Amino acid sequence: MTVSSDRIRGLCEAVADAVIAAEPELTHLDQAIGDGDHGYNMKRGFAAVRQQLDDIAAKPPGEALKAVGMQLVMNVGGASGPLYGTLFMETGKALGEDEPGRAALADALAAGIDGVRRRGKSDTGMKTMLDVLAPVLEALRRGAGCAELARTADEAAEATAELVAQKGRASFLGERSRGHVDPGARSSAVITNAVCRHLEAAS
Ligand code: ADP
Ligand code: MG
Repeated sequence: MTVSSDRIRGLCEAVADAVIAAEPELTHLDQAIGDGDHGYNMKRGFAAVRQQLDDIAAKPPGEALKAVGMQLVMNVGGASGPLYGTLFMETGKALGEDEPGRAALADALAAGIDGVRRRGKSDTGMKTMLDVLAPVLEALRRGAGCAELARTADEAAEATAELVAQKGRASFLGERSRGHVDPGARSSAVITNAVCRHLEAAS
């Protein structure tokens, strides 16, 4: 079964609106251990996604995700722009034209996460978005429902406060990065929550 353009539009809109609404929170987190631009960067990227909704929603799921990734690469900027761009583009590339089942979705997300690892020369435990994306993938693989996926993402983002940053600007702070939630981990949790809430409401 293919995914209707209305469903792709609804999902993109829900995610974009959630990221845009999270701007103050993401700004606040990045002010503590970065340069304070993560909220604005993400808002700019997802505002561009919102503007391209007609084009994006006309595509099959994999192509739509790739188009979202392109908008993020072009508009987010900072370290997170190319990384989120890679996440969406590589996930999209791995998705087919049809509605994916759980296993296909997990495999595609795994490809996207591998893309982030390669591009960022990073891995879990380094206090980045990967510390949310990897546990979300694990939960997806073990059959977690929407509520559990969303909770996993929130808890994983909170848990980054315990870590010392080893990548990105926060790594300049060394030990002083401990005690603060990573902004990119939080934005990944915001995206996961938006996807889960939207899919749950639509089912
Ligand atoms: P910048 O650090 O250039 O100001 P942002 O503030 O938009 O960019 O994004 C910072 C976020 O990007 C961090 O909180 C972290 O989650 C993520 N990040 C930075 N470098 C890496 C990396 N090498 N691998 C994975 N994620 C990273
Ligand atoms: Mg920043």
